[in-house]
Amino acid sequence: MQTVPTTASTPSAPPTAQPFKYPLERQFVEPDWTRIPGYRGVSKQDWETALWQRRNTIKNLKELKAALGDLLPESLAASIDRDQREKATMSILLTPHMVNTMNMDDLWGDPLRRYMLPAYDDRHPTYSNHPKASRDSLHEAEMWKVEGLTHRYPTKVLAELLSTCPQYCGHCTRMDLVGNDVAQVEKLKFKVTQPERWTQMLEYLRKTPTVRDVVVSGGDVANVPIAQLESFVMQLLDIPNVRDIRLASKGLMGIPQHYLQDSVMAAMERLAKKAFERNVDLALHTHVNNANQVTPLLGKAAKRLLEVGFRDVRNQGVLLRGVNATSKDLLELSFMLLDHARILPYYFYMCDMIPNSEHWRVAVWEAQKLQHDIMGYMPGFATPRIVCDVPYVGKRWVHQVAEYDREKGISYWTKNYRNGIELQDPEALNRRYEFFDPLYTVPESGQQWWRDHANAAQLAHSIHA
Ligand code: SF4
Repeated sequence: MQTVPTTASTPSAPPTAQPFKYPLERQFVEPDWTRIPGYRGVSKQDWETALWQRRNTIKNLKELKAALGDLLPESLAASIDRDQREKATMSILLTPHMVNTMNMDDLWGDPLRRYMLPAYDDRHPTYSNHPKASRDSLHEAEMWKVEGLTHRYPTKVLAELLSTCPQYCGHCTRMDLVGNDVAQVEKLKFKVTQPERWTQMLEYLRKTPTVRDVVVSGGDVANVPIAQLESFVMQLLDIPNVRDIRLASKGLMGIPQHYLQDSVMAAMERLAKKAFERNVDLALHTHVNNANQVTPLLGKAAKRLLEVGFRDVRNQGVLLRGVNATSKDLLELSFMLLDHARILPYYFYMCDMIPNSEHWRVAVWEAQKLQHDIMGYMPGFATPRIVCDVPYVGKRWVHQVAEYDREKGISYWTKNYRNGIELQDPEALNRRYEFFDPLYTVPESGQQWWRDHANAAQLAHSIHA
């Protein structure tokens, strides 16, 4: 066979396409809310007002139907209704701003709908629940030093200022505490009054110099009246050992209008100024799970925080099947955050083992593959780490697994510090800690093992266990 030599004049073969294509093809625009029947007459001024967003936040199926009108398929409405009665661990709470980021032509398949408005038919028909799932699966309340202050890591604490958010996610890891009671879950209630709890938190931090890092969370700090939030954070900034403060707010995405209010941004600016003077890093951590939610209003709010002096705005998404658990989804989201909102794609958490979360969860091996597939596209500092929050351990990078029984879907993890309830436990650092893959991701032999070792009630539903 005769071969033809390639010369400068012979066109070479096109380069092999990259697995992920950049620049992105998607637009960075605020979707037109007037396409949605319930928002047809809403002015730009109202839409961009936090109060209007809060007053019109959807709290139940009736209000969802009123907003979406004919766009909501009857089958989906019925499935959401059944889910609220039989499976949901969170009540419905959805801002119009979030509704507007959904694909009205495919609400069944829409990523945001899948986790903010879970439907009964989304759940896995056989394994909707893992037998090891539990309320407060991270055991945060067990590690409370004072009510709402979890001391889980040597130098870091989590301060849960309140138990509400401007929006409720179906997969909420704090489903035990956060939000309204639902048919399946009576929520844990704080017993100590809010001012007293906050005082106790600050007292604990003043007398615990090993703590340098405070996550101010909830719930969502967007629901703390701004004067109260400012006062609490100002007091934190007066504690010499506190060097790092992170405000946790999905509301930056759910209701960016809140952060764009002059009063809120002025308070943020005062906090950032004091933090800078004191060499404390002040950042806001948000929670965006899909690129569809990266819109100009979010970008504007995030950039304003940087402008007034925040060290960073970072994203802690949750890895959810059907929402973002492909490398394309994760990369698109990360690039949208970086390029349009200057939000650092920091972490993706594997969904925690809360009741009825199986259809969202991915196996450790799937998470490892995703981590592999997203490496190398973004700068190293902006490449999100996919982490597994292992009960009694804390965040571990998914490649840190010590041992892995793929047949049963049990991963084993180790740790290098004691949490707040193990300080006297000599075995804490020698133990292996377990995490569990969804049962439908393990082979039939493994599923049989679980059927033999867990009772039917646990497999179906264990919220009350
Ligand atoms: S915003 Fe965070 S705390 Fe609030 S419901 Fe969602 S996951 Fe839970």
